[in-house]
Amino acid sequence: MIPFNKPYLTGNETKYIADAVSRGKISGNGYYTQKCQDFFEKNYNFGKCLLTTSCTDALEMAAILAGIQEGDEVIMPSYTFVSTANAFILRGAKIIFADSYPNNPNINHKEIEKLITPKTKAVVVVHYAGVSCAMDEIMTICKKHHLFLIEDAAQAIDSYYKGKPLGSFGDFAAFSFHETKNIISGEGGMLVINNKKFKKRAEIIWEKGTNRSAFFRGEVDKYGWVDVGSSFLPSDIIAAFLWGQLENLKNIQNRRKEIWNIYFNGLKNTKNIILPNIPDYATNNAHMFYITCNNIKQRSTFIQKLKEHNFHAVFHYLSLHKSPFYKNKYKGKELKNCDKFANTLIRLPFYYELNDIKIKEIIKLIQKL
Ligand SMILES: *Cc1c(COP(=O)(O)O)cnc(C)c1O
Repeated sequence: MIPFNKPYLTGNETKYIADAVSRGKISGNGYYTQKCQDFFEKNYNFGKCLLTTSCTDALEMAAILAGIQEGDEVIMPSYTFVSTANAFILRGAKIIFADSYPNNPNINHKEIEKLITPKTKAVVVVHYAGVSCAMDEIMTICKKHHLFLIEDAAQAIDSYYKGKPLGSFGDFAAFSFHETKNIISGEGGMLVINNKKFKKRAEIIWEKGTNRSAFFRGEVDKYGWVDVGSSFLPSDIIAAFLWGQLENLKNIQNRRKEIWNIYFNGLKNTKNIILPNIPDYATNNAHMFYITCNNIKQRSTFIQKLKEHNFHAVFHYLSLHKSPFYKNKYKGKELKNCDKFANTLIRLPFYYELNDIKIKEIIKLIQKL
């Protein structure tokens, strides 16, 4: 069976892990953690970067930093992963779900302003498949209404909006290095703090509510409990693994983009399916290749047929506003486009080592369906 995903190892991960171990400091905020954080700050012009144990944790940190409290409203797309919502639910927020565009699963910027009330505190955007949301329009809305902007950039490493890296727009941005993403560390993530006001507090929350980082830099002469916090920082062993990936980012991205282009060019004249739409302002970081079908029945047939030929294709999110956990709490209108993607989107096998012959076989099969 050709799997949907296969984690790619560059070969240097275990070398750096051994090095991290030999350095004798394998808890968080060590040598490799700094190296990875510096890489992002330098190459993507991000504000402060803090590695976390997952993107979920980075989102939870963002919710704490934004001061989300019981009864606050947070606007986000319904077509997303549960963590985007859970991070704010944990702080007592009410989630206000917005619909996607008809031709792209991202949050429809025209829907956002209609959902704003005096209780709205933040807008969370998700760059689905690493393709940027309409950032100019969304930033204008957030500024006008004094709302926090948070980017769930879990899938959006090395992707751009009008030439500017995703993750550099929001007050906060959260990345994932889960093994299904482009750059991986098993589990892993990162919080980017672009809003300067929050840099100090972010580091404290990251270090269990203590000012330990400032202490290690020699800025204070003792460290103690100064705020709320949790254990959001990963071991340096995880960071060492991540470094083995990051130093190969260009190579990994080049191959993924080749795969994406083979799929796109091979399928672009296929009737019966719709290919992903990449707006002019956005780049494509080859996080995934998805197609959309006309209806759920056609999708089930496609998945079944691919499976019969030993290819594992999968659907993606179910609408969060219709989930068992949230459907009774959701009081908004129908979200037609979100439901459409929940019912019709298929992700095709996609990973670094997937060879051209297999991709072409998949293309042929889909053309015949
Ligand atoms: C993968 C993903 C997450 C969760 O990332 P973890 O690192 O597994 O916590 C959150 N949001 C989106 C959009 C994702 O794709």
